[in-house]
Amino acid sequence: MENIVYIDEIDIKNKTLLIRVDFNVPLDQNGNITDDTRIRAVLPTVNYCLDENAKIVLISHMGRPKGNKVPELSLIVVAKRLSRLLDKDVKFVNDCIGELAENTVKSASYGDIILLENLRFYSEETNNDEEFGKKLASLCDIYVNDAFATAHRSHASNVSVTKFVKTCAAGFLIRKELNYFTRAIESPMKPFVAIVGGAKVSGKIEVLSNFADKVDKLIIGGAMSNTFLKAMGYDVGSSLVEDDMIEYAKKTLEKIKEKNIKLYLPVDVVVADRFTPDAETKVTTVQEIPKGWMALDIGPATVTLFTEAIQNAKTIVWNGPMGVFEFDAFSRGTFALVSSVANAYALTIVGGGDTDVALHRAGEFAKMSYVSTGGGAFLELLEGKKLPGIEALINCSKKNNLKKLL
Ligand code: AMP
Repeated sequence: MENIVYIDEIDIKNKTLLIRVDFNVPLDQNGNITDDTRIRAVLPTVNYCLDENAKIVLISHMGRPKGNKVPELSLIVVAKRLSRLLDKDVKFVNDCIGELAENTVKSASYGDIILLENLRFYSEETNNDEEFGKKLASLCDIYVNDAFATAHRSHASNVSVTKFVKTCAAGFLIRKELNYFTRAIESPMKPFVAIVGGAKVSGKIEVLSNFADKVDKLIIGGAMSNTFLKAMGYDVGSSLVEDDMIEYAKKTLEKIKEKNIKLYLPVDVVVADRFTPDAETKVTTVQEIPKGWMALDIGPATVTLFTEAIQNAKTIVWNGPMGVFEFDAFSRGTFALVSSVANAYALTIVGGGDTDVALHRAGEFAKMSYVSTGGGAFLELLEGKKLPGIEALINCSKKNNLKKLL
């Protein structure tokens, strides 16, 4: 990503910065923030800008209000939390464009922080509307993107806006995400092990194809492994299987063999007689899944096998849980593997979907080398795709010859 300009490569002193962040934090029923990881993740960028005496205008989305002003999805709760984390006043403006936003930005001093209201209260945001992007751009001297988790979307606040500003830069979170990704996927220390789980093969076809060209070992768990087991001729009872993916699974198995990749699939599973937290359960080998029962977690022998397989790994990338970890009865496999990965002497990178939730619940978050803040964005990088939010930054810098000026 050598074409990206980062915030510490340009002069931001006494400038007004519009920073796209991802403050899409989870809220409980009473509207309280239940996990502020995403707010903390951009503090290095915000603190750096404060040190440089810039005027900071933060923009973000929260949830899916679909163009409506939904009070429950107001960013005001984030303004309060951010203010507490920084021990500094954060001015909250209950609109993200228009007179109120413009006047507040104009009248603020350098060194102030302003947070504008949820971008998605306007459908123009998700429609990547150019006029909306232009209005956002008019608020600043410099545009900064540090919202890695939304970099896979083409929205006005990360794509259109870049067409109307002279200077664009990426923040430190994006730098960290891209650096770890490059270390893991583009130049991994070998042996390189990928662990893929979760519900659907169909959602991760491209990830699997991309991995099949790069990894030394591939571990597949979760419901996804059922489709592979069925493709190999096992009877997986009433387990979740994507029948239309069987042919794809067969082809993937052939490719993996051709490339000499070592494949690990479950050898035993925790089966249940129904999909409920209080279902009757037992552990069986994959050869003996009873009719009408479904595999909802990997079994203890599989945990030992997978743990053994990652022992000599130097790089581990993990996406997707090993079972229905949301139910206690089927969470053991995922949590046991979390602990194996956490204790491995490897660069361990986890991200995408619910995997980070599992890490938090297992209490091992801090032991991973890196946990990506971007679910979908991380997955798309794993698929080998280009992210529109990152491409827009590169194009903006190219257009304005920014890289040459450095
Ligand atoms: P994904 O978004 O594809 O990473 O899938 C995550 C979801 O997969 C989680 O909500 C898990 O409950 C679910 N999952 C994992 N293993 C199984 C399984 N064996 N059967 C049904 N669902 C599963």
